[in-house]
Amino acid sequence: MKTLPRFWFDPRPWVDGVWQPTDGTIAVRNPATGAVLAEVGRADERLVTRAIDGAARAFRSWSGTPAATRGAVLSRLATILRARRDDYATLLTAEQGKTWAQASGEIEYAATFFAWFGEEARRVHGRIVPHPEAGREFLVERRPAGVAGLVTPWNFPLAQGAKKIAAALAAGCTAVWKPAELTPLVALALAPLAAEAGVPDGVLQIVPGQGSVVGGVFASHPLVRIISLTGSTATGAHVLAAAAPGIKRVSLELGGNAPFIVLPDADLDFVAAELVRLKVFVSGQVCVTANRVFVPESAAAELEARLAARVAALVVGNGLADGVDMGPLIHAAACRDVATRVAAAVGEGARIVTENRSADAAADLDHANFSPPTVVAGVTDEMRLAQEEIFGPVIPLLAYRRVGEAVERANATPYGLAAYVYGRDLDRCRAVAGALEVGIVGVNEWRPLKAEIPFGGVKQSGMGAEGGEEGMREFLETRVVSMPRPGIEG
Ligand code: NAD
Repeated sequence: MKTLPRFWFDPRPWVDGVWQPTDGTIAVRNPATGAVLAEVGRADERLVTRAIDGAARAFRSWSGTPAATRGAVLSRLATILRARRDDYATLLTAEQGKTWAQASGEIEYAATFFAWFGEEARRVHGRIVPHPEAGREFLVERRPAGVAGLVTPWNFPLAQGAKKIAAALAAGCTAVWKPAELTPLVALALAPLAAEAGVPDGVLQIVPGQGSVVGGVFASHPLVRIISLTGSTATGAHVLAAAAPGIKRVSLELGGNAPFIVLPDADLDFVAAELVRLKVFVSGQVCVTANRVFVPESAAAELEARLAARVAALVVGNGLADGVDMGPLIHAAACRDVATRVAAAVGEGARIVTENRSADAAADLDHANFSPPTVVAGVTDEMRLAQEEIFGPVIPLLAYRRVGEAVERANATPYGLAAYVYGRDLDRCRAVAGALEVGIVGVNEWRPLKAEIPFGGVKQSGMGAEGGEEGMREFLETRVVSMPRPGIEG
């Protein structure tokens, strides 16, 4: 069992390089046990306004700092974070619930964004464009847009922030980050590392607080030029509308309803292994997790049997304990929500193939926060289980007859974030992947997301991208200087 070290940071908002006093607090709990980990200082409107004003002051020097220097600071942050990986993973598991191995993977994943954008900082190039009139030229420049308001969810409390912070700071913007109320600890713990890496005071402000309060200040404060949110589609729509009067740039990473298409020639053992891995990852509370598994009618019984064996063998428990494959959900309400959807599907004719209740007997757990990994067969497109993001460890199986039909049904959703295609014939996999209306497709791969590539949804799953060279564009503005072309004779 991993034990949480004494806090090496102050659980209060971090503004202008100082931990700030607050009037209110947020109780942060370990979802596995229900124990209170900390009372975290909650930023109010006044403090968020101060944070934005401070970030605007810091922007003047940070935006003028050589890109190579900004990049070096981010690269150092990646190195320092990797060196402290174990402590950060333990903290992350304690407040979020995912297994320690998954938390450790998230720390590394977060570090890859600091490292990647540390390199990308030097690659923001402008260009000289020939002018249609003689004696003149255009200078096309890409400039940092200003202060960025960053808002992130609780499922990847560090990595979702790292993606945005790294891109914003590499571009020369300064950032005010609002982590999720449920998981502010690992976010605040980033502050001392950022300072140690050389991030100047005011360049990264961290303000835990209520979404509507902090989001409201981001939307109304004239010095916030970009709002970047990862969260639900409903929150995204709200943020977009709130940002409209100020004509702020908005970047949105929202909810999904990912199809997972098993082609008729797929290796079912491989599919079962990958699918179970994908669904126990963060207990299925992932925007890109498989939400609808389309399986050929002829292969349904065999896949059910293979999934059942793997799901039955899982160990569910406290993510800090050794040998645990899956932790709790974020809170009891999330478990009730998942159970209600499964019960409704069963009421409409679906069938539970298997349910893993290995956490039920374990002592010292808050059992209300655990949701059993479950395989459900006979799911139809109309059921809520297939219509909406499940956010739990449920594998819903939907049978299909023709591949074209599966693709059509996979696309019949307002969401378009991720999809998975499994099969042996790569030409066919590619054709199916090309026909799916999503931002990213994993072909025979359950976790395709990496810092090197752009990730962003289409349709109601969002706008803009994170990662790759595209990630930094969200924080850059293009402007043009039209000027006389200098001559040798003056
Ligand atoms: P949420 O939308 O409730 O909250 C996300 C963040 O937005 C939180 O920090 C919250 O405090 C803040 N927020 C809430 N109301 C706000 C407002 N009016 N203005 C500004 N900010 C506000 O989502 P959640 O339950 O924390 O996270 C789960 C959702 O996030 C799922 O739908 C999931 O699919 C999505 N998600 C998407 C991605 C992606 O990359 N596309 C990644 C992870 C999670």
